[in-house]
Amino acid sequence: MSLETDQINELHWLMEMLHTIDVGLVVLDRQYKIQIWNGFMENHSGMLPREVKDKELFSLFDEIPKDWFKRKAESVFLLKNKAFTIWEQRPYLFKFQNYRPITGSADYMYQNTTFIPLMSSTGLVTHLCLLIYDVTDNATNKKDLERVNNELAVLSQTDGLTQLFNRSHWESCLQTEFKRWCRSRSPSSLVILDIDHFKNVNDTYGHTVGDDVIRHLSGVIKKHVRETDISGRYGGEEFVILLADTSLDNAKIFSERLRKEVAQSIVKHNDLDLSYTISMGVAEVDPSIKTYEAWIECADSALYRSKEAGRNQVSLHPKQA
Ligand code: GH3
Ligand code: MG
Ligand code: MG
Repeated sequence: MSLETDQINELHWLMEMLHTIDVGLVVLDRQYKIQIWNGFMENHSGMLPREVKDKELFSLFDEIPKDWFKRKAESVFLLKNKAFTIWEQRPYLFKFQNYRPITGSADYMYQNTTFIPLMSSTGLVTHLCLLIYDVTDNATNKKDLERVNNELAVLSQTDGLTQLFNRSHWESCLQTEFKRWCRSRSPSSLVILDIDHFKNVNDTYGHTVGDDVIRHLSGVIKKHVRETDISGRYGGEEFVILLADTSLDNAKIFSERLRKEVAQSIVKHNDLDLSYTISMGVAEVDPSIKTYEAWIECADSALYRSKEAGRNQVSLHPKQA
């Protein structure tokens, strides 16, 4: 083969490879008119090279933000440097359907794009090459991982039986609220409640019924709290509610409402109708309380008073009552 044939072959193969490579290749002129459009672009857009040739990019793909694209491209023309955009910044440049069966969770193809300046023989950058990489697999894997991590984080904070916060997470919320109070000094109250004679429920009707009662109580709590309140399961049949921006008096009103609703409700289990009561203790944080643990103790001693006084009642922290 002559040298010339060799070179022609090489060029031909190169062209063939560029056409079939699994990366989008687009060449634009200074007016953003399409000059080269490879097989990847053809397959995903459904537009043939001759259909797009000499057409302005933005007139064919209105999903491309013109101002943003031009700003990026102009700097490539001017500085003769490459530029990039990744899917985390902008999920895609061309809105192509996602066709991969394994990553069927994405609606469209996530793309990374490289802008390359193409220099003419005179040293001027007259054209721009875009390389479009399909990064859907990476993007969906990363998003799945993020989702699972978020779910795990929620699970690790949640009590399985009641879906309220578990003890350790609730305590860390209380600690945060206590620190906030040290700075702001706006009122904040803590409520502790415990089911009365719960052992009897378990002993008489069994643990499954006991669990139903615990679930019922958590339902009543969820119904009564505001979005800013933080409720948790502190132990077996003991619950805690942190009432943000709430004075002792208002916390007492809240607690009485909750106590009454519990006392009036009936838990149904098969043919069984069961009623139960709760005892409650309330403490507002004040300057004599030096730690969040001491705050819990104050509310706990109020709860103890309710138990001592015959149960099914609300008591305030002895020093505040
Ligand atoms: P008091 O009025 O003094 O609170 O009496 P009590 O019977 O409720 O006493 P105590 O708080 O000591 O009893 C709690 C009982 O709760 C003991 C335990 O068997 C039961 N318990 C703790 N966790 C669970 C649970 O998840 N499910 C069920 N069914 N029972 C639980
Ligand atoms: Mg109890
Ligand atoms: Mg208890």
